[in-house]
Amino acid sequence: MLKGLRELFSSGPAPYADPHERIPLGEVLKRNWLELWYQPKIDLRNMQPVGAEALVRARHPERGVVAPHIFLSEANEADLLTLSERVVLTVLADWELLARQGVAMKLAVNVPLSALAKLPLAQMLRESHLPTGKWTGLVFEVAEEQIVGDLPLADEIAGVLRPLDCTLALDDFGAGYSALARLRQLPFSELKIDRMYVMNCHRDRRNADLCARAIELGRRFGLSVVAEGIESVHESRKLQSLGCHIGQGFLFAKPMPKGQLIGLMAGIGLMAGISNQ
Ligand code: C2E
Ligand code: MG
Ligand code: MG
Repeated sequence: MLKGLRELFSSGPAPYADPHERIPLGEVLKRNWLELWYQPKIDLRNMQPVGAEALVRARHPERGVVAPHIFLSEANEADLLTLSERVVLTVLADWELLARQGVAMKLAVNVPLSALAKLPLAQMLRESHLPTGKWTGLVFEVAEEQIVGDLPLADEIAGVLRPLDCTLALDDFGAGYSALARLRQLPFSELKIDRMYVMNCHRDRRNADLCARAIELGRRFGLSVVAEGIESVHESRKLQSLGCHIGQGFLFAKPMPKGQLIGLMAGIGLMAGISNQ
């Protein structure tokens, strides 16, 4: 199945990412350059996609598809709030499109905690008129430093999300281990190990230790643990042997436009159909 996934989408185009260039987020918003791409999350036990993360891109008239750090790294709070609102509405529309194609998959979206506190999420969901029978909920990915930096706010937001069947994921897990391990309850349902610690975890003892601690923390609190940025079969096998069940990374699939995600899911359905015959 892994070979099949890679054959289907091994070469997603890399976005424009000149480290020295910045494009103001205000301009990206004003000119409507935003696009959402999706990267599948894979169950490492059977190599099946179990969800996908929405990752924002800007389609610039000269630069082509531009990576987020170019327009997010210097963005102000107001523009980030506008971006978050547009991204959530787009994810809801894309979720419905996928559901109509028979792919009711759990989508995740990156939103800063400060924006989550301000967005009228219940109203946005209600006004999107989603087919309630199939609703899988959304996962809101929030960077570790924001969650650890304001646990009471994260707790409050998790409470607002619960009746909407939505949850928080702690993104870029690593440095906050000791702060979290002391708590009795964690306000998120998913923990994503930062790529920095996944990298070479099969031969780097310190990274392997951090991954093992994250997986143990997940087991203790009943969280899904996702390893981010898996690039090699060695890393994937090591993570599996440590008990990590979900992975995301270029080894499996790069971020792709939603049309390609639908094609990927259809291809997998086709492959499953063929292998079941
Ligand atoms: P993130 O949420 O931690 O997303 C994971 C990043 O790792 C993505 O970069 C993804 O393309 C990249 N990645 C995934 N697998 C691999 C791999 O195997 N190797 C390597 N080298 N990279 C991999 P991307 O799309 O450039 O996004 C960077 C960051 O920008 C995200 O990190 C997130 O913090 C932020 N971001 C993305 N979309 C949004 C959004 O809609 N809103 C906000 N506020 N931030 C966003
Ligand atoms: Mg993320
Ligand atoms: Mg991350």
